[in-house]
Amino acid sequence: MSAKAEYRRVLSRLAQKELVPFLRIIGETISKRTISKRYRDKQLAEIQKLAQQIKMKRVRRNVSKRNEIRTVSFRIGTRPASKTEILLKRFGRRRSPQHLVYVMWDKNGDCLKVGRSYRGIGRVTGQKDTYYFRAARRIRIYSPKRKGKRYLPMLECILTHIYEPKKNTIKPSKRKYSRECPFHRINNLLEREIQKRFPAK
Ligand SMILES: [Zn+2]
Repeated sequence: MSAKAEYRRVLSRLAQKELVPFLRIIGETISKRTISKRYRDKQLAEIQKLAQQIKMKRVRRNVSKRNEIRTVSFRIGTRPASKTEILLKRFGRRRSPQHLVYVMWDKNGDCLKVGRSYRGIGRVTGQKDTYYFRAARRIRIYSPKRKGKRYLPMLECILTHIYEPKKNTIKPSKRKYSRECPFHRINNLLEREIQKRFPAK
């Protein structure tokens, strides 16, 4: 089933509950009268996930359009010091974009971290003693083609939704920024609509 069809299916399942009082009149009962909060929130989480899937292609295309994207892969066993050297050679000095968002992956292709820098590649190489940097086998640098500084938190937020880093300790949900992130915007809209239409007990 396509994500769009699935999205509709979850919504009509929720809407079924609205029929309950009408069915009661003719002596039919199909389920509990009220929607439990747990049930509703589960459905909400599901449609949020589906909505993200549906919008993913468009958001990714936009990210590709707005940024210069460069990826560096390291060979097995590359030491942190060598990684730093490679990164500096590629992005250091004058060639370094000042504003950037970086994504790190490990040897299994699992995303380790998404972060942003306002002072070039130094923010990335400065982590050479951390677990992330040691485990990183691939690092991708996104540098906005224009409007860098203000766009950066949103870009970081978007990439966190896309790559779902396992060990990110910082949740990208600061109100100030999240309103601009398309995924956060969708999530908030859905949450508001569902809570309004399906008040739970
Ligand atoms: Zn977001």
